[in-house]
Amino acid sequence: MSKSLKIETVDDLKKYAYNKQKDFAITLNGGVFSRKEIYYYSDTNTFDVFSGIDGTIANFTETEITDEFSNKTNIGKAMKLGGFYLMEEYEPKTCDNCGSYEGYNNSSGDFQCDNCGHDEGE
Ligand SMILES: [Zn+2]
Repeated sequence: MSKSLKIETVDDLKKYAYNKQKDFAITLNGGVFSRKEIYYYSDTNTFDVFSGIDGTIANFTETEITDEFSNKTNIGKAMKLGGFYLMEEYEPKTCDNCGSYEGYNNSSGDFQCDNCGHDEGE
């Protein structure tokens, strides 16, 4: 299963894609949907973007990836318009705090409840 988390700043993108390739989704213009896998390199402050549609890999600087008027990538535009999401794989389980059968593994790998926000470190 997967759920999505809206990414609104480049700092969030860096946090989630730091040192690991993560799956993101772009929705623009009411439903156009594309998947991107992104890996962030902190040493060069650049991003590798793998496009699921055509199988290409491109490398962008922070300036390029956040440019909402870029003709190379629509990530900046999607982030600006609220259409950029991190896709996270998760396993529902019973929350120790509220008993709700929800929750997911957040990016640090810990369980966090969708219902009450209870964070269960591992
Ligand atoms: Zn809970």
